[in-house]
Amino acid sequence: MPTNCRSPWEGRGEDPDSDRDGDGRGDARSAFSDNGRVRAFRHVQLSYQPFITSVRRFPYPYRAMLAICSDLDETPDRKVYWEIMRFLNTTETTAMGPGVGLDVGNSIYFDMPPEQFSYWNTDDAGREMVRSLIHSGHIDCLHSYGDLAITRAHAGRALDELARHDCRLEIWVDHGKAPTNFGADVTRGYGDIPGHEAYHADLTIAHGVRYVWRGRVTSVIGQDVPASIDGLWTSRHPVASGWTVGKELAKRVLARRGSVKYAIQADNQVLGEGRLRDGEAVDEFLRCNPHWGGVSSCETATGIGEVLTDSMLGRLVMREGVCILYTHLGKVKDPRTPFPPAAVAGLRRLAKAHRDDKILVTTTRRALGYLSARDRVGWSGHREKDLLTISVGRGSGARSGGPPNACSELMGLSFYVPDHRRYRILIDGAPVESLQVNPPDRTGRPSVSLPWKRSCFPDQ
Ligand SMILES: [Zn+2]
Repeated sequence: MPTNCRSPWEGRGEDPDSDRDGDGRGDARSAFSDNGRVRAFRHVQLSYQPFITSVRRFPYPYRAMLAICSDLDETPDRKVYWEIMRFLNTTETTAMGPGVGLDVGNSIYFDMPPEQFSYWNTDDAGREMVRSLIHSGHIDCLHSYGDLAITRAHAGRALDELARHDCRLEIWVDHGKAPTNFGADVTRGYGDIPGHEAYHADLTIAHGVRYVWRGRVTSVIGQDVPASIDGLWTSRHPVASGWTVGKELAKRVLARRGSVKYAIQADNQVLGEGRLRDGEAVDEFLRCNPHWGGVSSCETATGIGEVLTDSMLGRLVMREGVCILYTHLGKVKDPRTPFPPAAVAGLRRLAKAHRDDKILVTTTRRALGYLSARDRVGWSGHREKDLLTISVGRGSGARSGGPPNACSELMGLSFYVPDHRRYRILIDGAPVESLQVNPPDRTGRPSVSLPWKRSCFPDQ
């Protein structure tokens, strides 16, 4: 089990400054009552000088964020699954050459036809591998309970197994037309209809699922920024890419006219408020496949190189967007080398963009957790002599807990600050031990961060 994923504020030692103001905890509560992205600290004590701060969009030094969110459909067996994960997450020698050493998650389901890799279909070693990857955060999506899971009992059996091994998955991703799906239109299922034999939403939410995907995919390059169809049309494929652009524009029009199906695409945000049909509130998310041929084009291990082009990655950085990439990395042509040379080249382009401090590549769970925390926590800043303090209140925006060994949602949170001699960050009143002080970025402003640590890939 990896051990070096300790959150920077897990060990809260004595801070020589912690009692100087005497009410750091009160500061955080004050920050909580404020709304909005830029806040001034209001404090009654004259010894404090408030200062304006703002949160950097992404952990320093990155300018964009991407998570490869792969549905495991048609993965032949555990060896192929493991080789894919090893190539993506390590720099070890693999069947496709040295791995790209990124931070990439995967998904799992349970009841599937025998020829497809799934939790119940694989052997004990495969199940052990799955549990190990869940514990490390590298399996982070429950991809329905599978095509053959048709009753609440199937869901219950899977959840019991996860609980027995202290495994928790917080992301639900609908699969095809699986009966346990939550979707009402694109991915039609019955998992959230009380009284239906496949109803399981209450159990699944109680297990810990918080984020839900119900078939929504966009072609727009970069979310969490205004929608734009730029970069989709190509003169090499004018008709097909023009059709993709037309469909994207049509979705926007339908969203504005009140279409429930396309509502989440109206403002091009990754996360939106969702409600299951049994009334349960969830965070719904939008995935993206920005290929010129449309959202169902090249969404496989074979095709991913056609998606991760220099042009697409460059535009994602330029727009400072987020991409939760819709794909199926288990759909391979040759199980001996799951990624063909063009896909390897695409993944190496992505790895270079990460190494060049442009795109933070991480798992879907960590990306969604970061975005959720960034936009929901409260904060305030004040200065006292040569010390600048930022007080962060977590509130409901960043849940404590999480799956075992999960890195906390606040990791990477970065605040622009005035140039100063000393800094500290308080989380719910407690000082962060290992603060990261960053030089000015391309905006010319310095920042301080809660350090981002990559996930720790398990040994097998
Ligand atoms: Zn699927």
